[in-house]
Formats: sequence, structure tokens, C-alpha cells
Amino acid sequence: MSKKNLHVLIVEDNEDDALLVLRILQKENYAITHKIISTPGQMKESLQFESWDVIISDYSMPGFSGEEALELFQSFNLDIPFILVSGTVGEDIAVDMMKRGAQDYIMKSNLRRVIPTIEREINEVELRKQKKSALEALRVREEQYRNLINNMHEGLIHIDLQEKIVFANKRFCSLSEYTLDELIGAYASTKIIHPSDREIFIAQNKLRQTRVAGSYEIRMIKKSSEVCWTEISGSPLYDDNGESIGSIGLIIDITKRKETEMELRASEEKYRGLAERISDLVLIVDKQGKISFITPSVQKILGYTPEELLNEQVSRFLPVQEYEKISTALIDNFDQYSAERIETVVPKKDGTNAILEFTGSPIFTNHKVEGIQVVGRDITEQKHNLESIRKLFRAVHQSSAAVLITNLKGEIEYINPKFTANTGYTFDEVRGRNPKILKSGYQEEATYSELWNTILSGQEWIGEICNKKKNGELYWEINYISAIRDDHNAITHFLAIKEDITHKKELELELKRAIDVAEESSRLKSSLLSNISHELRTPMTGILGMTQILLEELSETEFAQYIRKIQKSGSRLMATLGSILDYSQLESNMVSLNLTNCNLAKYSKYLLSQYENFAHEKQLNFTYTVLDDTYDAIVDESLLNRILINLVENAIKYTNKGGIEIIIDSEIHFGVPYAVLRVKDTGIGIELERQSIIFQEFRQASEGFDRNYEGTGLGLTIAKKMIELMHGSISVISTIGVGSEFTISLPATLPPEQTEVASEETNQGTTELQAKTQIPLDFKTDVLLVEDNLINIDVIVQFLFPYWKVDFATSGATAIKLAQKKTYPIVLMDINLGSGKDGISLMQDIKAIPGYEKSFFIAVTGYAMITDRDYYLSQGFDEYLAKPFTKEELTTLLTGILVQQR
Ligand code: ADP
Repeated sequence: MSKKNLHVLIVEDNEDDALLVLRILQKENYAITHKIISTPGQMKESLQFESWDVIISDYSMPGFSGEEALELFQSFNLDIPFILVSGTVGEDIAVDMMKRGAQDYIMKSNLRRVIPTIEREINEVELRKQKKSALEALRVREEQYRNLINNMHEGLIHIDLQEKIVFANKRFCSLSEYTLDELIGAYASTKIIHPSDREIFIAQNKLRQTRVAGSYEIRMIKKSSEVCWTEISGSPLYDDNGESIGSIGLIIDITKRKETEMELRASEEKYRGLAERISDLVLIVDKQGKISFITPSVQKILGYTPEELLNEQVSRFLPVQEYEKISTALIDNFDQYSAERIETVVPKKDGTNAILEFTGSPIFTNHKVEGIQVVGRDITEQKHNLESIRKLFRAVHQSSAAVLITNLKGEIEYINPKFTANTGYTFDEVRGRNPKILKSGYQEEATYSELWNTILSGQEWIGEICNKKKNGELYWEINYISAIRDDHNAITHFLAIKEDITHKKELELELKRAIDVAEESSRLKSSLLSNISHELRTPMTGILGMTQILLEELSETEFAQYIRKIQKSGSRLMATLGSILDYSQLESNMVSLNLTNCNLAKYSKYLLSQYENFAHEKQLNFTYTVLDDTYDAIVDESLLNRILINLVENAIKYTNKGGIEIIIDSEIHFGVPYAVLRVKDTGIGIELERQSIIFQEFRQASEGFDRNYEGTGLGLTIAKKMIELMHGSISVISTIGVGSEFTISLPATLPPEQTEVASEETNQGTTELQAKTQIPLDFKTDVLLVEDNLINIDVIVQFLFPYWKVDFATSGATAIKLAQKKTYPIVLMDINLGSGKDGISLMQDIKAIPGYEKSFFIAVTGYAMITDRDYYLSQGFDEYLAKPFTKEELTTLLTGILVQQR
């Protein structure tokens, strides 16, 4: 067994004592090296330059003491056992020395104890040394960990179960901007966590207590109130007993990442929105021809939903050859291709076609083409518009009317070839110039200002302008000028469409001249006819009047026969004259209608009553049948009068046995009511082929020298014209030897109730009036007759004798004088009084004489055209009597007036 080395410093003034100790030590298997010193200087030096395992010191020495030695030893701060060995000291000193730091105290008498003491103390020193170095190692390790934690790139925080911060590393402090002191002991959730995220934080920490680790993202609020996004990876912490004591969190600042993420999301959203809103079709096709992206616009353009085409082959909708055109061109030669556009017809889902214009660009990944991005624009409408524009342009260009377009400054921007043909100006000659170059000076400036006002107000100006051609020639054109507006209704251009009407103008002028001539001759004709009428009627009044008077005087002599013949011839002459005049007036459209409601049954019964007598004279029956008189005819009564008389006169004239029947009826054609009147006779009838010609001018059923009946053949023609003027119609059914039936139908209406009552009253009045004319009156009424024809005066005086007292005047002056002397209730006034005033102004003069307010003025005139009656009534006459007239006509009229006056 090898001996333990023991290096001993002995502080002893007595060498024997020192050797005694050494001897004891050597006995105990120690290889002893030693030094014996006895002064403080020696001790100082020994402690300074040598190392010792143990110090054994005497207590009392001359010039040195155990206490001093202990003090000196302690000043060196060495962990070596200091054992006091002495023979002299007492118990209390020994205790005091041990209190001061000596390891033990051994009496010299009991030196054997020194060995175990030294061993024990050396062991203890050894233990102490070991402990110290273990502590040091721990300290170093802790230092290392602290550095590690503090230098970590991540922030670290330790919180306890109450979420109080136990520790935070430097990185966390700098992240949170708090010092460690500010953090420690603070509640984490309120100190550093964003209020909106506190719940997440608390929930996560609860998880840690159930031993669950996890990562999450929350916002943290720094000391400066700045918000930062963090990612926290939390782990639970346990004590040695496995009890949860809190958690550790590793914190990374992810603000930048979050911002980028948000920016990315925003931009993604932006692009998605863009893709969704984009009106063009955008698709991405991979190398295999599969559609990997397509915009929703496909639905609008082609009718497919994006889902229907996504991941499908592009050939599903785009013709393969077209797609290949795009793809090969792209891949082979991208740079040159990029500008090229491919137009193609693409079938839509519904079977119709769309025209699309495609462009494309390759998509690269690592410099290799991975796919193609294709953009298709729907140009179907544009194409169609272009086509329409092309057509319209051709239409304008080839138009047979000249077309001119100017800008707002009035500068010519377009003319068509017809413009050049009309004016002689080519486009180059007029481009940019003002259309004023065509001005001839013929038009007044007012025309142009009206033109501008019209077109600027948004309306079309239509007007004729005389313009000047390039060669100076004048020409007329009709202009349709209007403003051209854009989509916002703003005027951008003016458009003039011009038609050369020079030829038309010339024709118009010619026509106008011809019309003037025609009108003049028609006026002359009317005036001639009117004069003829007057000139024939005036003497006829005398002839017929006198014959009538003579007839009354001459009873059944043969003179009476002659006179009757004269009368008949005269009447016939008058009828002919009447027809010719009516016809001429109808022909020249001079008749204006005065339409009123008329009950045909009542009207015709009254009108035709005198024809009953004529029929009876020929031993013919005359009957009325009213089948339906619901409707009133809408007619001019003066025309109806002539029509009915004509039909009834014909019926009597062409019937020798049997009779005449007047039938009143109504019909509805296409919902429109018509009042119908039929004149039916049992006369000679009309051959079928003649039935259509009898309504033509001057045609009779029997014509030529062998015709059997008198007449001009104008009656039915006039009747037809008058009926048609009133929008009615006339027809005939006839059988030779059996009879004829003439039917007239006239537009009709339901009678207004009041009118019905009124007309009934009027009718009663008329009937009464008629009855009264038959009764001789028992007093004489004064009548003033103004007439320059003496024979006619004679006739009238005779006609009115003996019941009326007639004063007459042959001139205006005499008439006034008479009228001033006496108030005549009735004045018969000739119109043409030769020289001096005419009947109209004379009537007005007499009317102005006091007392004449209630007098009746009757125009008696040979101006007896259809329109004349209305004219005289409009001038102020109360009645009208056409020359010639019979005695009955005159007396009926006057008696009627008398009844009204009373
Ligand atoms: P006119 O003045 O000659 O009678 P109208 O125009 O009144 O002329 O008649 C034309 C012709 O129609 C007559 O000439 C006659 O031949 C024929 N006519 C007219 N009414 C009848 C009738 N009721 N019966 C037979 N023939 C008639």
C-alpha cells in the first residue's frame, strides 16, 4: 500500500515537540514532507510560496502566538485545516480559537488524537473543495444557459399558473420594449397582449396546464403601444413532482409576414375581383391543353359556366386548329407573335356562334414554357356593327340623294358622289370648306338663321333652297338638315341630305300656271253660268208666272191647253237649267256640305207629299213603308231634297200603272249604321246592261233619236255625285216591264234624345204650317217687293192677290223711302237690281231702319245654284226663293213666315 503524501507546516518553537508530532504522523502511513517555522515572517513566506495540506500550530511561543498564527493564516484565505496543539491552554481558550476558525485543538498530552483530526479535516477540506468546484461548474453552466437564452433569436417568456411573468429573455424585452424588471411579476395578458386576442391567449394557457403544447398567432402591444403580430409556441412546465407550474413560450415577431400575407390577400382579392369583373375571356391552358384557369366572363361570352370548362381540354370550346395556331406561334416565336391577334368563330353553348379575337402569352417556369395564357375578346357585336356601318356607308355613298356632313365648325368632312354630280365640286375641292360656297344669294338671311335655330334645337330642318353649282348655274334642292349626336346626346356633326328638285320646281311652276289658268277659266265659267242662270230665270219668272195667272183666268178653252203647254215647256226648261247648274257646281267641287241629323221617314214624307198628287193624277198609288227608322241619316238636307225629288220624279215619270212605294230601312255594314231609303215603282224597268250606265253623265236607258222619254240624263248622275259627297251609295235593281227599285244608303247615327223631341216638334209645326197655307187668311199683310223687272212685279202682285197687300219699288232709293214710311213685316228682295245698290246691301240698309228688327227679308233671285241659298242666308236674309217659282211656293213661304211671326 503506497503511503499518502502529506505536506505539513509546523508552527513550533520547541523542535522536540515538533518531531514528536512528526513521528506520530509518520507511523500512520503518511509520506511526510514538512517545514517547521516559529516566526510570523517565516509563516508568511511559507504560505505565500508553498502549498500545504495541513498547518499544526503551537499556542504559546516566544515572540509569536497561536492566535497571531491563526490570524495570519486566515489573511491568506486558504482552505487548509489549522489545528492547534498545546500543552498549556485551558478549555475556554481552545473554544475561543475554534470559534475564530481553527479546525481543532489537541492537547500535547493527547497527541494520538492528531492523526484522526488531520484525516478528518483533510477529508473535510477535500469535500469542501469538491463542493466548491461543483458549485462553480453549476454557476458556469447557468451562465452559459443564461447567455444562450439571452442571445436566442426568438423571444422567450416564462409565466406561472396565474399568468404572471416569471422571466423573459433579452430578445423578448427588446421585442416588447419593456425592461426585465418591468416585466417580471406583471400579468402577461394585460401587460403585453392585444385586448382582442386576450381570450385566445388565456385559452392557450389553459391548454398548457393540461400539458398540451401548441402554436398560435396573436397580436402583442409594445410599451410604445405599437401593435405587432407574434407567433407563440407554448410548452407546459412542471416541477419535480410533475405538477404544472406554468408555461414557457417562444415568441417570433411575424408582423412583416402578416403584413405581406395581408397585402397578398388583398392583392389576391383584387386580382380575383379583376378576373371576375373582366369582360374579356382569360384562360390559362397547360402544356397538355387542359384549362387550368378561366374567368367567369366565359358564361356571358360563350354560355358555359367556368366549372364546366375548368380542367377540361381547351378543344372543348375552341376549335383545335385555332388553338394550335395560337400555341405554336407562341411557343415558336413569342416575341414576334405577341402583337398578332387571331380572329376566330367560336361555337357557343347554345349552338350560335361568337366571333372572338385571341391574343396569348406563354407562361414560363424556370425558363421553360409551362402553359399559355390566352385572352379572348368578344368582337361579335363589333363585327356586326362594322358590317352595318359598312352597309350604311355604301348606302350613303351610293345614295341617289346628295349627302354632306360637316363638323361643328361647319367644315365639310364628307360628301357622297351624288353631291359631286349635283354641284360639280369634288371632295378635294370642298373638304374643310363651309357649305356657304353653294350660296346663290337667292335666299334671305332669315332662312339660314331659322335653319340654324332648328337644327341646334335638335329638330330637323326641311326646306327648299336655291343654290349655285361650281359652274355658276343655279339649282333648287330640298334639304333635310339635322344634327348628329353622340351617345351622350351631344351634337358632333351636322348632316344634310339634299335632293335636286330643279326639275320638280319647273314642273310645279308650270302646274301652278296651269292651275291659275284653270281656276281663272273655272271662275269665268261659274260666273258665266251664274249669269246665264240669272238671265234665264228672270224672264222665266215672268213667262211661267204669267202663264199660271192666265191659266187661272182661262177656264177650259183651247187657249188654256196652249198655255198649259207653254207652262210645261217652261218647267222643263227650268229643270234642265237646274240640272246643268247643279252638275257644273258638283264637277268643280264647289259644293260645301252642311251636315245635320235627319230622320228619313219624317223628312221624306213631308218633302214628297206634293208628289202624291202628281202620282194620283197619273192614277198611281203612292205609299210609305217604314221598316226601321232607328237611325238618323247624316246629310245635307238641301242635297237630300234634290236627290229624293229626282228619284220620285223618275219613278212617276217611268211608271204608267201600279204605283210608287217609299221604303225607309236601316243597315249595318262592318259595324257602321246606314239609313236606307228605297224608291220602288212598278214602271217600265231598265234593261240589265243599261242599269250601270244610267248613273253616268248624259246617259239614259234609251238613247239616240229613238229615245222615248224626255230628260238630260243628268238627274241620276247628279244624285249619285251628291250621295257620294255625303259618303253614301246608290244602287238599282230593275226588271223590264216589272219595275225598278232605287236604293240609297247614307251614313247614320242614333238620334240624340233631345233632337228627337225637337224634330218632332218642328215637324208638328211644319204640318201645322202646311195646314194653314190651305186656309185663306182673313186680313191683308203688307209686303214690300223690291224688283227692277216690271213683268216679275206683275207676276208677284198677281200671285199674292187678294190676301196680301204688295207695295213695290224698282230702285233702292224708292225702297228706302217706302221702308221709312211704313214698317213692312215681309220684304221680298231681288238681288240684281241693275244699276245702283244690289239687293244684299239694300237689305242691310233697310234692316238698319228702326222697327225692322223683326221683319223677314226674303232673297228672290235668279242666282239659284246649289251654294247660293247658304250664301244669302249668311249675308243676313231670313229666307231664299229661287226664280222662277210657282204661286204655291211663294204663298206657302209667306204664310209660314206669318205663322212664325205670330
Ligand atoms: P233623265 O233626266 O233622263 O231622267 P236620269 O239620270 O234621272 O235622267 O235617268 C237616267 C235614265 O235612267 C233615264 O233616262 C231612264 O232611262 C232611266 N230611269 C231612271 N229612273 C227610272 C225608273 N224609275 N224606271 C225606269 N227607268 C228609269
